[in-house]
Amino acid sequence: MALKSVITGGAGFIGSNLTDHLVRIGHKVVVLDNFVSGKKSNLSHHKKKDVKIIKIDISKSKNLYKYFKGADYVFHLAALAEIIPSIKNPKKYFNNNVIGTLKVVEAANKVKIKKLIYAASSSCYGTPKKLPTSEKDEINLKNPYAVTKFIGEEIIMNYAEMFKMPNISFRFFNVYGPRLNASGQYGAVISNFLFQKKNNKPLTIVGDGKQTRDFIHVDDLANAFLKILKSKYNNKIYNLGSGKKTSINYIASIFNGKKKFISIRPGEPKDSLANISKLKKDINWKPKISIEKGIKNLLRN
Ligand code: UDP
Repeated sequence: MALKSVITGGAGFIGSNLTDHLVRIGHKVVVLDNFVSGKKSNLSHHKKKDVKIIKIDISKSKNLYKYFKGADYVFHLAALAEIIPSIKNPKKYFNNNVIGTLKVVEAANKVKIKKLIYAASSSCYGTPKKLPTSEKDEINLKNPYAVTKFIGEEIIMNYAEMFKMPNISFRFFNVYGPRLNASGQYGAVISNFLFQKKNNKPLTIVGDGKQTRDFIHVDDLANAFLKILKSKYNNKIYNLGSGKKTSINYIASIFNGKKKFISIRPGEPKDSLANISKLKKDINWKPKISIEKGIKNLLRN
């Protein structure tokens, strides 16, 4: 029998790319999504027999359990994911992200799954004192988004401990790739640049553009997911990034467009870089897609 995977937030950027990878290796996928940021079109290339789509708000659901029956793997990616809106409306973020996670982990614990993977966030490091930052370094929660994602991770790890649930938490760094959410007021840098380049507008560089981030291509991220599924590791937290730092000016140079410098975003770290040795060692994985190649592929489509 085919393996069954449930993906919360499966119609979003990361979820839909993960769906592609799981279908490719023969899984039957159940997508749970409230379609606030997720899109039907992200999954429209799949056949109904491979991907079942359910419109549901996990944080408000009463009987989530029924969708988890027979599941081998659960990927909990659904969340509200923007920092500034989380400062404007913390309660909404707590309800969605914390209560949502509690409901998912409860439902998953009722069916005996092989592994649950939680999408945590590198925002838990705040303004990191040490670069590259390892999983053992200081937690520094600077906004409600970071708080809710970190509480979610604590819930996942607590269930792993209490109920011997086979749970993994991945702290995502800056993930990019096809279907990255369309640019907007708080858009991710690569989606903004892509939109600007295609519409012949100047690239909006925040501050002096010398700040750096750790960009990981969604296909490299998905491959780490697939490798951890097969591994013996459970009850662990891993950074998930490329381990390479790239400045915003360098990203702009790959896009090769006109530039416009805009005012800084208060509270954001100057640099962010993952120490990924723990994950590399445990699952024999390494990121393969360079930032140059990843962006060129995006520009081609
Ligand atoms: N950024 C930028 N121009 C944009 C959007 C973002 O220069 O149009 C910068 C932003 O200030 C930050 C970096 O790019 O320093 C990454 O921002 P993003 O929102 O993609 O991710 P973050 O690391 O802030 O979560």
